[in-house]
Amino acid sequence: MAEATNFIEQIIDEDLAAGRVTSIQTRFPPEPNGYLHIGHAKSMFVNFGTAEKYGGKCNLFFDDTNPSKEKTEYVDAIRRDILWLGYKWEKEVYASDFFDVIYEYAEKLILDGKAFVCDLSPEEIKATRGTLTEPGQESPYRNRTPEESLKLFREMKAGKYADGEKCLRAKIDMASPNINLRDPVIYRILHAAHHRTGEKWCIYPMYDYAHPICDYLQSVTHSLCTLEFEDHRPLYDWVGITLGFSPKPRQIEFARLNMTNLVMSKRYLKKLVEEGTVHGWDDPRMPTLAGLRARGIPAEAIKDFCERAGVTKAQSECEIGYFEAVVRDYLNAHAPRAMAVADPLKLTILNYTGEEEVDFDVNPMQEGAGTRKVTFGRTVYIERSDFSLDPPPKYHRLRLGGYVRLKNAYIVRAEEAIQDENGNVTEVLCTFLPDSRSGHDTSGVKVKGVVHWVNAETCVDAELRRYDHLLRDADYAGQDFSERMNEDSEHIFSAKAEPYLKGHDGSYQLMRTGYFRSFEENGKLILSEIVSLKDNFNK
Ligand code: ATP
Ligand code: MG
Repeated sequence: MAEATNFIEQIIDEDLAAGRVTSIQTRFPPEPNGYLHIGHAKSMFVNFGTAEKYGGKCNLFFDDTNPSKEKTEYVDAIRRDILWLGYKWEKEVYASDFFDVIYEYAEKLILDGKAFVCDLSPEEIKATRGTLTEPGQESPYRNRTPEESLKLFREMKAGKYADGEKCLRAKIDMASPNINLRDPVIYRILHAAHHRTGEKWCIYPMYDYAHPICDYLQSVTHSLCTLEFEDHRPLYDWVGITLGFSPKPRQIEFARLNMTNLVMSKRYLKKLVEEGTVHGWDDPRMPTLAGLRARGIPAEAIKDFCERAGVTKAQSECEIGYFEAVVRDYLNAHAPRAMAVADPLKLTILNYTGEEEVDFDVNPMQEGAGTRKVTFGRTVYIERSDFSLDPPPKYHRLRLGGYVRLKNAYIVRAEEAIQDENGNVTEVLCTFLPDSRSGHDTSGVKVKGVVHWVNAETCVDAELRRYDHLLRDADYAGQDFSERMNEDSEHIFSAKAEPYLKGHDGSYQLMRTGYFRSFEENGKLILSEIVSLKDNFNK
């Protein structure tokens, strides 16, 4: 058996050693009310990953007990995103598959005197629940006979009452220090169509009651969830013990993944989509898995990040820079190199007349990746920022009378800058050193600057998109998301790119520019930033 690497695995090891379980079954339990985000990747890493490690199984469990917010569109998106991350579920299960059994168990609780129908309104229930320091008050309906509660419960099911008119409550302890045990509501009336059961039900079980039953019916051994459910565990256990589940699933909580500069709440992400702040759930700035995929973030890098971030019980916030560093490491090792110029400036080499091919490493980090030929010519584009008429100190790029190497090609010298009526440079006229070709340089001229370029004859137009984080840095702890929105997070440039990039969709390191995804949209080459080139994160 592999060694335990976190506290969950230690608990599982103990359960296996004590013979409490013989094989491991987990479940990943999304509610289909939105798209999955990177926080869910962490939950998948824990649920699928733990099952995988122990040779066990993990189900995809749709927690669809809340019909008003759930949609089939989300179910489809969730499936797609899990598969993209590379996880395989054993069974696809819905809480709604079990609605009949969950209902039967409720009748059993009523007959055993463990649940009662309550006529208090939701507001009254809330008002009589007590506080952390004061006990709650018992409902006047608490001592109804089981027969009366059963009759009313069946009438609730039959649609005799309006939403909120009655509910079913577990009979536990109104004086419990844990408020979740103060006769919690376990069924509510809700006249709403369900995405799978349609109009069949007008009463729906509450999550805290349904979840332990669904876990048990799937033979879940370890129900792994986030820390906000820790206070609900006594209720989870109460349901299992009261209904006599054996073996009873064991709930273990771990810390959520929180990240700086990322909104990680489906509710808020939905708002961004609905208000048009972003282009959709799969906008490349979104922390959804669909957005990260559109951004060009490799699934492997996401899993690697979840693994490195670790599984703990301590709440913390992960620097977005750390995630980006993991992505950068992956792309540095895997992404081929290419050239594009984001803000092009024309450079004409007066004494060059030919046309020839120069060699570029496909990826110097990958042994055996080989080289690729790029056509060099008399006119090229370089970045506007790689030429200066008035260079600051220590400027090693091109200046009038100065030298620079055009990457993997020749050394050139700037002779003259052509300017428009506003003084903007429109073209730089150069000469080149014929004996300075990279790899065969006998010119004896030492240059400090190397700049990238594209051949003006063969290059293609591209739309280059750069992104900033959707959330600006927080000014103070706990500042609301909405006050941190970066309204100006997408920047579009008219770029020139190597023709090679068109028709070769994929992820590239655009040399000296960043990591970009290339693809076509309406016949146009799009270069969309995945992550910047510079590592501004201190590991
Ligand atoms: P949100 O708050 O974004 O709506 P949720 O918890 O309501 O998320 P669910 O669909 O219920 O979303 O989540 C499915 C599982 O993923 C749950 O077990 C939940 O605990 C877990 N999960 C959600 N967000 C995170 C996160 N940031 N880190 C780790 N696990 C998470
Ligand atoms: Mg939830």
